[in-house]
Amino acid sequence: MTSYLEAIGARTKRLPTGAVAVTWPPTHLGKFGPATTLAFDPAVAEVAKAELCVPGSDILDRILADAATRGLHCVARVDTEGENPPEDVLAANLRFPNATPEVRAAERGILPYLLFNFRVTVTTDERTEFLRSVLLNAETLQEHTAADVFLQESLTLPEDPIVAGSDLAAAYRAACLALERSINADVTGIRSKAEALLRDELARINEFYDTSIKEQYDSRMQDPLESERVFRAERDRRVEEARRKYALTAAAKLVNARTILVPTTTLRVRLANARAAKEVDLEFDAVNLETNRPACESCNTPTETVYLCVRGHVTCEACDRSCAFCDTLACATCAPDVLARCLMCARDACPDHAFTDEIGRKTYCGDHIHACAICGRMVGPPYVKACALCGQSYCAVCVEASGRCTTCRSLAVIRATHEDVARATAAKGEPRNLTKWVRGQNGKVTVLVGKGAVFQYLYVLEKDGTVVRRQKGVGLV
Ligand SMILES: [Zn+2]
Ligand SMILES: [Zn+2]
Ligand SMILES: [Zn+2]
Ligand SMILES: [Zn+2]
Ligand SMILES: [Zn+2]
Ligand SMILES: [Zn+2]
Repeated sequence: MTSYLEAIGARTKRLPTGAVAVTWPPTHLGKFGPATTLAFDPAVAEVAKAELCVPGSDILDRILADAATRGLHCVARVDTEGENPPEDVLAANLRFPNATPEVRAAERGILPYLLFNFRVTVTTDERTEFLRSVLLNAETLQEHTAADVFLQESLTLPEDPIVAGSDLAAAYRAACLALERSINADVTGIRSKAEALLRDELARINEFYDTSIKEQYDSRMQDPLESERVFRAERDRRVEEARRKYALTAAAKLVNARTILVPTTTLRVRLANARAAKEVDLEFDAVNLETNRPACESCNTPTETVYLCVRGHVTCEACDRSCAFCDTLACATCAPDVLARCLMCARDACPDHAFTDEIGRKTYCGDHIHACAICGRMVGPPYVKACALCGQSYCAVCVEASGRCTTCRSLAVIRATHEDVARATAAKGEPRNLTKWVRGQNGKVTVLVGKGAVFQYLYVLEKDGTVVRRQKGVGLV
């Protein structure tokens, strides 16, 4: 900012309030008037009645627009050779685990980019300074890697400043966000180093004063309480000093900005699977051959691994939720609507694989829902009851308090020649001479009881004739 003001010949004066008084040169009277008071901090702007000059403010937008028309802003051009099939570039950059991408349209043109060069200063007990460049497509504001070739001064070929219409203030804001993302790791590293140093120093300070206070008491000097108070006050002061010394501040300054023309391919890609489809716009420049990463529609983070939500959203690896029983996938936003969680095993299931308990109204997966073979009701484990006679599980309504299911309570007399009797007693050693039989049947099993003079014989047969339960007893029926 200051370098810009100097460059245009404005006079600046720092005011005691922290604001800056600017006297504009004759060339800028028309745009800015004779004088402006600028503040870079909302609190200062308030107190000093100054114009707030931060990203998004009208004054900064106007200053940036003006800077863009001046020599601060050079236009250059990058030329590349060779064609790069969009499909290849796409495949090299992004993964689509649950959808197939298809390039529907690809257009190659020479597009303007803005290169912002920032000087970043991170201060703790020591000062770290580095340069960081952010390259944005001037129109889409997509960030592209600021490869070395873009940073070369030799690129600055005289070219007409044709870059009209691009919203510089918006680009600057996007560049600031990209810069923040880019320096995050550096700042975190510096911060944890400073924090470790601070911890050590605090430990040393505390140990010194703890020992000193203890010595006061041990030496039985007069008025140890008073000297303890003095030591404690001194320690607090030194702790405060240490905290200030290692506190971290980070500041970034825009050194310059330039426009670079770069051959760029704009793509429209259709993602599709059996359940959903979605079109996404991507782009890559001929230098980096990196497509931009689509932003997850749930958490807004750019992602290399792109999942397609069943409702047509792009979602990232952290936000995808899927059915435990099939490949239905929902984004974090849609998951509460699309997937239901089994109350027993806590697995998520899609509508095809989730079931509602018709008595308890709770949700269960296919493994934990039970279809009653008598009444057809779907019930969850709390409403499943086993019959004491046939041993099969039914819903709680169909198994009475007596412990017997509706089928077992309504066994009807049949002739001994009934085909089920023959099936039940087919195996070697089964009684063949029983003459009195009763029988019942439901959606799952057939229950047969043959009555002898003393014992009764229970057989539970499945549809295919397999005997799943056989019991010999007294008083079964
Ligand atoms: Zn996400
Ligand atoms: Zn499913
Ligand atoms: Zn979704
Ligand atoms: Zn379950
Ligand atoms: Zn039932
Ligand atoms: Zn039963």
